[in-house]
Amino acid sequence: METRILKGRPIAAEIREEVSVRSTALRDRGIVPTLSIVQIGDDPASEIYSSSIQKAGDKRGVNVVLSRLSGESSAAQVAGLIAVLGADPSVHGIIALKPLPHGISSDVLEGIPPAKDVDGATVRNLGLLVTGRPAYAPCTAQAVVEMLVRSGIEISSRHVVIVGRSPVVGRPLANMLLRKADNANATVTVCHTRTRDLSTHTRTADILVAAMGVPEAIRGDMLADGVVIVDVGVNRIDDASSERGYRVVGDVAFDEALGVAAAITPVPGGVGTLTTSLLLLNTVDAAMRTDTKAS
Ligand code: NAP
Repeated sequence: METRILKGRPIAAEIREEVSVRSTALRDRGIVPTLSIVQIGDDPASEIYSSSIQKAGDKRGVNVVLSRLSGESSAAQVAGLIAVLGADPSVHGIIALKPLPHGISSDVLEGIPPAKDVDGATVRNLGLLVTGRPAYAPCTAQAVVEMLVRSGIEISSRHVVIVGRSPVVGRPLANMLLRKADNANATVTVCHTRTRDLSTHTRTADILVAAMGVPEAIRGDMLADGVVIVDVGVNRIDDASSERGYRVVGDVAFDEALGVAAAITPVPGGVGTLTTSLLLLNTVDAAMRTDTKAS
């Protein structure tokens, strides 16, 4: 079987184009879609992420405003900033970059109003998802659904096996796929470290989502012929032959999946490339919902 490689880049371009069209329409009506990034401390990965969001926003007409707090800030200071942004009508979306500094619990994020929680970070938004109501999901979980839908892969009535139950990927994704909605209606199995004999589950998947954070843990003999694989994992492994001394791999042994799977997302270059674009898309969506002049 020839395995189709589901690349993220063309889909990200499609989403960014949608962001441009919608942000232009909003600006024509005097609304500047605005995303506030809350960055606490100077985590290097957060620096890279926030500058990539800013660059992407600049190109697509989304105003991205960075609010920085020192890593020494108290939870009350962080909560105070979030409250101010939450009440500011010119701010349509809020994302607080993780990891939060030691001593600041993710409870501070609960001050983000659900309508502005464009990265689905709050318990309230997860609750809305669980109960099947409209809600923003974490962009990584959303990226999995977008990847499948925009690649023309049917989800309805299919058995999706998700390996990983984190609040950022596995849990929200399971609830998105269970919805009684277009692009959902799947039968979902969620596996984790206490799942007995993981491969008995993975082999029953029509669609397999790996979100474990364990390099190449899903081997070729754990796959059913014709499965569609979405690999969310991002793992560095040592590689002396690489200039950097490491390479990035997913949670699935990619080479072993070739010829067995009907389709697979690569790592890097798969779902990870969609998240920034989806964050902007959600921000524009949140701005549109505030537009009382729109019919
Ligand atoms: P996490 O919070 O560490 O959760 C990992 C999940 O996988 C847990 O539910 C864990 O089970 C399960 N798991 C780990 N090893 C397993 C095994 N051997 N068998 C079965 N289940 C196993 O990780 P996460 O934040 O969800 O992230 C998962 C992966 O996605 C990571 O590689 C991360 O880098 C990547 N990621 C990528 C993006 C992106 O592309 N933008 C964003 C977020 C995450 P237990 O619950 O039992 O511990």
